[in-house]
Amino acid sequence: ALRRAGGEVAAPLAVRSLEVGGGRVTGVRTAAGAIAAGHVIVAAGSWSGELSPSGLGAPPPVRPVKGQILTLRGPAGRPLAERLIRTPRCYVVCRDDGRVVIGATVEERGFDTRVTGEGVYRLLEAAWEVLPDVGELEWVEARAGLRPGTPDNSPVVGRGAVEGLIWATGHHRNGILLAPLTARVVAALLAGEDADAPPAFAPERFEARRLAGRTAG
Ligand SMILES: Cc1cc2nc3c(=O)[nH]c(=O)nc-3n(C[C@H](O)[C@H](O)[C@H](O)COP(=O)(O)OP(=O)(O)OC[C@H]3O[C@@H](n4cnc5c(N)ncnc54)[C@H](O)[C@@H]3O)c2cc1C
Repeated sequence: ALRRAGGEVAAPLAVRSLEVGGGRVTGVRTAAGAIAAGHVIVAAGSWSGELSPSGLGAPPPVRPVKGQILTLRGPAGRPLAERLIRTPRCYVVCRDDGRVVIGATVEERGFDTRVTGEGVYRLLEAAWEVLPDVGELEWVEARAGLRPGTPDNSPVVGRGAVEGLIWATGHHRNGILLAPLTARVVAALLAGEDADAPPAFAPERFEARRLAGRTAG
């Protein structure tokens, strides 16, 4: 859809920093040189805090929250369970094509994306406890990813500290679920319209709380 609308995708291309001048964002600096832009949307997941313009206050405190997730396979058309199963230690999703997804660990390990024995063991055991037939399934894969977390677990969506800067990050466990809402808010901001972003998502809330805490002594 982006390309059909005349957009270009430059990937993989790492952004090294944001360019700011005259009180507004003017573009980004990349490994391949500068790219001018009237607006920059920082949607760099767990790395978003590294892309805050310097000298404009602390960036939203986004950190990586590691998640490991497993896939197994059973016979297609005969799911082990018809509904999503959620326990305090895991969730199990049985798809029609036979895939069974078991998720997910929540770990504070920085930018580590290794799949570990403990992660796999704990998820399998937790799923097996509520659905013993999991033990009969064919193993497919284990993966690990990073969720962009914030101190209050709410996303960071809205205008930044300088004109033209927009944050769309910090979605933690709900980035897929919240993609339509985030896209709607970002599109409205780009069009110069009033966006109906929930106040709980305001990018400046952490800085405001930090300053309030300092004043309260
Ligand atoms: C195991 C697991 C299960 C999950 N399950 C669900 C689920 O069921 N439902 C749900 O809603 N969410 C789920 N999530 C959470 C969801 O994946 C995240 O919320 C979502 O991926 C966040 O999207 P994002 O685009 O902000 O960040 P990311 O997906 O992390 O993407 C950020 C991108 O920015 C790129 N980038 C970073 N720095 C730079 C730079 N300097 N220059 C250029 N590019 C850069 C990165 O390479 C990356 O491609 C799950 C996460 C995990 C780990």
